[in-house]
Amino acid sequence: MIEAVFVEFGNIMTQSKLIIAKNFCFFGTCSSVETTKLLRKQPSPQTPMDYMKINPDELTDAPSPTTHKKELDEAVGATTFGCNLYEADPGQQISMGAHYHPDHEEMMYVLDGKLRFETPDGEYVVAAGEAFFVPMGAEQKGYAAGDERARFLAIGAPKAEDHAVIREPCDSCGETTEREFGTETDEEGQIVVLYCSECGTECERFGPGPH
Ligand SMILES: [Zn+2]
Repeated sequence: MIEAVFVEFGNIMTQSKLIIAKNFCFFGTCSSVETTKLLRKQPSPQTPMDYMKINPDELTDAPSPTTHKKELDEAVGATTFGCNLYEADPGQQISMGAHYHPDHEEMMYVLDGKLRFETPDGEYVVAAGEAFFVPMGAEQKGYAAGDERARFLAIGAPKAEDHAVIREPCDSCGETTEREFGTETDEEGQIVVLYCSECGTECERFGPGPH
């Protein structure tokens, strides 16, 4: 016997509450026809939906050590996940250095070619048709490997927490140190400049491709 079930009929918000509403008749006042009508209202589409179709070839390259980096997420205004399409030639590093994301998960799916990831657990080679998952807080440095240009998708979430901590040897102070990020703009577009967080020396800069 159900002694008490509380559902606010004027404010039914969730599918689970609606399922409860469908399964039980409340106080003898709610017919199955009425609950079916309620169910049909959920989920109701928001209008208009911002469906978008894009062609990555038409996007401007973002700063990267790779030949191309197309920020598909920025192009469509995605808010919860990151999605970048890369093309990298053999030997190119695919990120701005050995790094980890404290609060962000990543998946790389290789479309063409081959990638190689250096990690504290050893090396992973990921070929076309394979995917590589990087957990939060896990350090990696990736390169395009093999003889042909690598194409891959990098997907990560949550997008708002995509801050990367880069740790690389600094030639100036001789230590492995974190990097500070700076940005500059020149005729090619935005340039990302990396500085040693310990001695302040400029270490590297990455402009937009094609490289
Ligand atoms: Zn330094």
